[in-house]
Amino acid sequence: MALRNCARCGKLFTAVSSSMKLCVDCDREDQEQFNKVKEYLKEHSTATVIEITKATGVERKQIFEWVKSGQLDIASVVDLGLSCESCGKPIKSGRFCIECAARIESDARKILSESKPKSRDAKKEEKAGFHMADAIRRRRGY
Ligand SMILES: [Zn+2]
Ligand SMILES: [Zn+2]
Repeated sequence: MALRNCARCGKLFTAVSSSMKLCVDCDREDQEQFNKVKEYLKEHSTATVIEITKATGVERKQIFEWVKSGQLDIASVVDLGLSCESCGKPIKSGRFCIECAARIESDARKILSESKPKSRDAKKEEKAGFHMADAIRRRRGY
């Protein structure tokens, strides 16, 4: 047993185990929020994180925490609020949806073939390569 400051409210409390980070009050509140999310997911199996936060009032950050710690099954959450950087469609991972990733790739290939100089001037080619990389960077929004 050790005296510890609650990770949420800062109140001093007696931790009975090293994994205990919240005081009794916050822990109970945490549990209630967790149950609320669990219940909501039972009825809305296709809910997105945004919908969950709206319906339960639980912060997105908190839901991420539960998913990270394995308390919430990531498969039960349709998306974690990620969206394609190009079209804004919800995605599960990465930065672009499959369609945009494919389009960006074919775009890059097109630029590559267009910018290839017909005469094999080494200096010219180097310049074209630089511009191409620049164009791809811009498209990806760097
Ligand atoms: Zn507390
Ligand atoms: Zn997209």
